Amino acid sequence: MACLGLITKARFASRKRKVSHMRDLTAARHKMVQQQLVARGISDRAVLSAMREVPRHLFVDQALLDEAYDDNPLPIGNGQTISQPYMVAIMTELLDLTGKERVLEIGTGSGYQAAVLSRLCQWVFTVERIARLSERARKIIQECGYDNITFLVGDGSRGWPDAAPFDGIIVTAGAPKIPNVLVEQLADGGRLVIPVGDRFSQTLKRVVKIDDRTRVENHTGCRFVDLVGTHGWSDH
Ligand code: SAM
Repeated sequence: MACLGLITKARFASRKRKVSHMRDLTAARHKMVQQQLVARGISDRAVLSAMREVPRHLFVDQALLDEAYDDNPLPIGNGQTISQPYMVAIMTELLDLTGKERVLEIGTGSGYQAAVLSRLCQWVFTVERIARLSERARKIIQECGYDNITFLVGDGSRGWPDAAPFDGIIVTAGAPKIPNVLVEQLADGGRLVIPVGDRFSQTLKRVVKIDDRTRVENHTGCRFVDLVGTHGWSDH
């Protein structure tokens, strides 16, 4: 009887620790939104709310759990990274989503950006060239219960012609130039958000397509891993 009492006490203590840990993570996420996003001018309420909701800590390597809400990118294996929260926020905000869009993401990585997008548009199509990362992201997203995302393993620098046109395209890897093939896959009024530059630093650009004409805007400076593929950098 005493033994049963001890087990129950231990279980209660463990559950209490878990709940308190979850509370810490939720508090860290809310702090991230306030201090890293709102303070830097991210104002789209839907974007802020999605980033308060999506559990970023599930998408990082579990050894880096304590850094999940830090103000920087983190390694996810295969030489790739989960982007800095601010970069995810500004790129998402630039897509100007209303909830009805079909969005193509190039560079699934951890799956975090796709998860955020899935809260803000109708359907997300996400392409990753590294099969292990795509599979890992698919599993985490399934655990989260987000069911409006389709995954593809392949060279996303060519877009996804079979699923085009898209209202938004977001490239989460640095490209040497804006791939024409992606602009062609934008719907009328569509937005393409892409970091363009050399292999060390890029400028975040937004291309808006209206009546087959395009307007290119320059936003913030940034540093991404390479977009590797036919319309990106060569693999080395
Ligand atoms: N969006 C990701 C996230 O939320 O974790 C971060 C992406 S990481 C900065 C860039 C990703 O782009 C890497 O996983 C890399 O393998 C992928 N990538 C690079 N070139 C690609 C290509 N041509 N097609 C698809 N994915 C590519």
